[in-house]
Amino acid sequence: MKILYVEDDPTAREYIQKGLRERGHHVDTAADGIEALRLLEDAVYELILLDVGLPEIDGFELLRRIRSADDRTAVLMLSARAEVSDRVEGLNLGADDYLAKPFAFAELLARIQAITRRTAAEPDDGTLRLLDLSLDLRAYRARRGQREITLTRKEFSLLEYLMRNSNQVVSRTMITEYVWGPSFDAYSNVIDVHMTHLRKKVDQGEEVKLLHTVKGVGYILQDRRSSEA
Ligand code: CA
Repeated sequence: MKILYVEDDPTAREYIQKGLRERGHHVDTAADGIEALRLLEDAVYELILLDVGLPEIDGFELLRRIRSADDRTAVLMLSARAEVSDRVEGLNLGADDYLAKPFAFAELLARIQAITRRTAAEPDDGTLRLLDLSLDLRAYRARRGQREITLTRKEFSLLEYLMRNSNQVVSRTMITEYVWGPSFDAYSNVIDVHMTHLRKKVDQGEEVKLLHTVKGVGYILQDRRSSEA
């Protein structure tokens, strides 16, 4: 996922950015509101992690400006001021969620996932999309551009799971649980076999490869051109 993290504390900024990058997210950072607004002019993000206590423009004011520019990007507010009034103000201004500092990194990840699930809910036409790859969940049909992709039932589930979590690394265990069920061995080579077939069907002959292996971790479905900034 493409994330903008706005935080004036350099230690927190580095630590969180590193952690999120290790999980396959693309993270840009801004140390204050002015820098954040500049970045928002040039790039589209899927999520903004927004510290409330910032120099110059504080997080609330920044959020107000973002929303008044009709930008609906998901926003997770972060604040040491855990008072109810802060929380309410953030949510009233259009934040999607609020996390009090200090927080555990796992808690941040869980909130990010929850927001992603809510905001990346399938579009009205029931079709998941990434670049020119589309998966029509109702018609049970996959396409890459105009090319029809014929998938087995398992490959379809596999691709659906990858697309629902696109731009995030999914582990073998996560894939196994979704596609084969919890009792299946995550280290069975059955997964590799299916993944190899799926990769051929999705990427062979295509200029932009979408399905990537993350060594020792799992897989990711991603247009890597956009994340190599
Ligand atoms: Ca701060």
